[in-house]
Parts: sequence; C-alpha cells; structure tokens
Amino acid sequence: HKRQLGKLKNTAATTEDEVNIELLGNIESIEDIKQLHKFGADGVGLFRSEFTYLNRDTLPTEDELYAVYTDIVKKLKGKPMTIRTVDLGVDKNPRWFGHSHALNPALGLTGIRLCLAEPVMFRTQMRAILRASAHGPIKMMWPMISSLDEVRQCQTHLQTAKQQLHERDEPFDDAMPVGIMVEIPSAALTINSLLKQVDFISIGTNDLIQYTLAADRGDESVSHLYQPNHPAVLKLLQHVIRAAIKQNKPVSVCGEMAGDEQYTRLLLGMGLRRFSMNPNNLLAVKNRIIHSDTLLLETEVLRLVRNDDPEKARALLKKLNQPAANPT
Ligand code: PEP
Ligand code: MG
Repeated sequence: HKRQLGKLKNTAATTEDEVNIELLGNIESIEDIKQLHKFGADGVGLFRSEFTYLNRDTLPTEDELYAVYTDIVKKLKGKPMTIRTVDLGVDKNPRWFGHSHALNPALGLTGIRLCLAEPVMFRTQMRAILRASAHGPIKMMWPMISSLDEVRQCQTHLQTAKQQLHERDEPFDDAMPVGIMVEIPSAALTINSLLKQVDFISIGTNDLIQYTLAADRGDESVSHLYQPNHPAVLKLLQHVIRAAIKQNKPVSVCGEMAGDEQYTRLLLGMGLRRFSMNPNNLLAVKNRIIHSDTLLLETEVLRLVRNDDPEKARALLKKLNQPAANPT
C-alpha cells in the first residue's frame, strides 16, 4: 500500500470535480525538509519555531534565528513557508523561563500571551523572520490568539520591528503576509472581525478541540472525550472556514486532523482547500482527495454539521468515507 501511495508523489492533488488542493508540511527544524521534499509538499504551512529556544540557558539572538530561518528558506527553493512565532509555555518550558509555575499551564501564560509579556524577545524573533523574508516567500503567524486586542498588540510590535530594521537599513519584505492561528474558541467565534485584521488564518485543531471540549490533549484519562468529530468542534470548523471563504482570505488546517485521512472528506466538504500536516501523511491524504467530489461532499457535510448527536456524527462520518479511497 505504501509503495502504491509513493506513486502519488508527482500526481496533482486535484479532486474528481477538478478542484485543486494545496498540501503543505508541518516542520520543527531544518531536518524535516527532507521529508517535505520526499512527499512532494507544496511548501511549509506551519514551522513550529520553538526548537531554537529549547535546551539552552539563554535566549537565541536575532542573528542566530535569522541564520536558522534563512537556511530553511534556501532549502525550500522558492516554496513558501509560514513561520509561527514561538509558542512556549505549556509543555515547552525553556530553562531561562522566568515566569512562575502556572496553576493550569494550558490556560496560563502560553503562546502569544508569553510573547506579549516578553516584547523584547517577541520583536527579536519578528526582526529575524522579517530579515529572512528577503530570501524567499515567508509568512508570519501568531499562535493562541484569543481576541482582537492581542492582534492589535502584535501589529504594533510588528510595526516597531519593521521600523527598527529600516533604521538599520536591513532588507525585508515589507508586504510579508501576517496571519493568526485559530485554536481558541473565542477566536473561532469572533473570526469575522479577526479576519479583517490579517492576511490569512490557520486552524489549529489540536488546541481547538482541547479548549472546546475541555479535554487535555495529552491526558489519557480524558482521551475518550477528545473527539475531533464532536458536533461542537465541527460547527466551529465550519463557521471559521466559511467566514474565511466569504472574506476571500486563505484558510488552512494545520492540526493533526489535516493529516488524518479519516477527516479529509469532511474538511473538503466544509470548503477547505489547504491542508498542512506531518509530511509522512501527505500521500494518504492526497489519495483521499483524488477520490473525492467536493460538490457531493458539501451536501453530506451540511447534514453532519447541523446534527448535535455525537453518535449520529460518527455514523455520518463513516458514511462520508465510503467507499474508502482506493490506492491508485
Ligand atoms: C494545533 O494546536 O493544532 C497546532 C497545530 O499547534 P500545536 O500542535 O503546535 O499546539
Ligand atoms: Mg496549538
């Protein structure tokens, strides 16, 4: 089966009704680029930039970050990359982290909250990303956004970072697209206003599921409650994807759901046209895509999303996936 999927590397990710789908990879370091090329990804949809901040006693410098990002951009040979600004605080606590231990880390000073509390660190990374944008198509993405206030604060820091680079005469792409991750229910529910402030969005289903269902993504004792196909999650997903389509802003899913072929048709039926995943899953998802018809899926998915019964949702999802996509 794996060898047959391998043949799909150079096949376009186009549905039966001729809709083109963008398939991107999630990476954590330069080593992951190999896999990305191996499976024919269109670029990097999520670079988790935490790596450089961990297992060390001091913060990385701007030049150090710039070198890391530039190396990756060069290896991508013109393919686009979305760099997520550092998302620390929950499981990834660097040694230099001076903040007191959180009572409930997932609800504490994580992601963008930590960056906004440490503006010097935040702007240092922003300048490194901006400088790397002189070498290839880079986008910047802010994680764990919960409100418009935070987006405005991020924009202000970005303006300052750009100003600082101007003063130093450093080249960068002044029009570098900026986006947010939608992974907190408050962001999903206010998405129409958030969309107006940004160039694109990416849905982080790993956290969106956790926060919607109040089920820790890493806690086995509640793993039965962590349900990607829970009707509440599906309603949020549909709402966010539709809002983005309506405002003509690119939307992707970059959580595990995007790389799980069980959910490929569901997401296609919701209107999703961009998936970002662990590159290892890319060909299995592509196989689903080329055996799917988005028009047929749309009607089925509407029924699925309207329903509030998890048992029915599971049954309808099973039906949606039949006949199972055959290996090409
Ligand atoms: C997510 O939350 O879905 C996501 C992609 O980010 P991370 O898994 O790094 O929290
Ligand atoms: Mg997340």
